[in-house]
Amino acid sequence: MPELSPLTWAVGITALVVGILAGHFGWGRNWLAALGRRNAGRFTKLHPDYLAGLDYVVTEQPDRALDTFLKLLDANADTLETHFALGSLYRRRGEVERAIRIHQNLLARKTLAPEHREQALLALAHDYLRAGLLDRAEGLFLEVSQVPRLRARALDSLRGVYERQLEWEQALGVYHQLSRIDAAPPPSVAAHYLSEMAGLAMERGANDAARRLLREARREVTPFPRAALLRSRIAEGEGDIALAIKLLRTAVRAAPVLMQEELPHLLDLIAPQEREALLRELVTLAQSRDRAELKRLVFAAISAGLGASPTLRVSIETVVAQDPTLRTVWRLKAFPGGGAGSVPGARDVPSPGDIEQIATEIHALLASAEKYRCGECGFAGRSFYWHCPACHAWESFEAFAIVKLG
Ligand SMILES: [Zn+2]
Repeated sequence: MPELSPLTWAVGITALVVGILAGHFGWGRNWLAALGRRNAGRFTKLHPDYLAGLDYVVTEQPDRALDTFLKLLDANADTLETHFALGSLYRRRGEVERAIRIHQNLLARKTLAPEHREQALLALAHDYLRAGLLDRAEGLFLEVSQVPRLRARALDSLRGVYERQLEWEQALGVYHQLSRIDAAPPPSVAAHYLSEMAGLAMERGANDAARRLLREARREVTPFPRAALLRSRIAEGEGDIALAIKLLRTAVRAAPVLMQEELPHLLDLIAPQEREALLRELVTLAQSRDRAELKRLVFAAISAGLGASPTLRVSIETVVAQDPTLRTVWRLKAFPGGGAGSVPGARDVPSPGDIEQIATEIHALLASAEKYRCGECGFAGRSFYWHCPACHAWESFEAFAIVKLG
């Protein structure tokens, strides 16, 4: 394909931009007038075709597209919205340097109206956040938070900056500022900040401060299993095992997702003769809730080496009978070279005698499986996090086993 001359390229891009803008604002309407509207939320209401058109341009020739758009901006004040859209597009594609160039270019214009300057500052702050330049992002979010119409958005992003810097006290301060303008996230987020602070206090041996912070967390949300878990750790450290057991039981009952991580510890704390009673209590509770909870409990108990427990026998059988993956595992082991269907008269569900063998197999599979997955972004891992390391959502982790067959 012959190289396009710069003039042809510029004309083509200009035509495309005009076409895209006309398509965005509707044929037959005065799109220049539409560009002049100054309602705050308009940048978020772009037509999908418009973004698809921009995406095509930046995919094909990202640097040339950027140069041309920046020249258009110099020549025509009515292309502001295109620049905001293009900047946002580059950022979403991870091309943060280009996004920064666009927004800095906008800010360098002496004729930029104050509301457009504020919008560009907010966009640039998001670029810095995406680029990991947290100090710069913090400064700009703080500046933009002084603008009433952008305050909630700037503060919420600032909260995210402090979360990433593990500055929990500052994150909590911003949370309270958001509360005052009715724009705060759920109270559990504040309770997690307080729990993070309590965890740090515990690390430096300041148990009284930690308890005070956890009381505050419980004032935000009750019940709050994370606070019960941390108070259990404090009690255990101070030798009050009875209280530690009580609090840990409370935590796993309120948050079954903790079962896999905490059940072995709970079993370590209680006397051996009380273990079957505890399992019976947990099985009864799980059965009264749903099938997924019984499965979580069974997996946690097998991970903890309780596959031979008489209390669990029926539960393991139930879980295996109801789970297609586990039934496949069992069949592969019971009938190597073919399924039960290929053996005339073969049992299709495991007999009680098979249960212990199945528990051993599950134990081996769990030892190498990823046990948790973020319900927001799909991040999977072997450790439990209250705060997803990938998408920064709170309490988004679910118990999950990626079992590799064969
Ligand atoms: Zn996530």
